[in-house]
Amino acid sequence: MGYLIAYSTVAVAWAAHTWWLSAAAALAGPAMYAGSCWWFPFANCWCCKGAGRHRRKDGKVLRDCRICKGTGKRLRIGRRIWNRYKKARG
Ligand SMILES: [Zn+2]
Repeated sequence: MGYLIAYSTVAVAWAAHTWWLSAAAALAGPAMYAGSCWWFPFANCWCCKGAGRHRRKDGKVLRDCRICKGTGKRLRIGRRIWNRYKKARG
């Protein structure tokens, strides 16, 4: 009987442990994404691949990228949400 109680206590403790782990993992994913958006707010522009301008196949510049206005960088979505949140709070 003592064994059973000890075993079930361990089982419960283990289950609680794994629950905590999976909850931590579920929290850590978005948190790490949010953190990376904070530390690296800019990513290469998806439109011009970070070049800032569009080129023809022969290498001649066609025009500046309108998405990033020629900078080749764009604000990541996570950081944009953060900025909006900050603005909303004043
Ligand atoms: Zn661009």
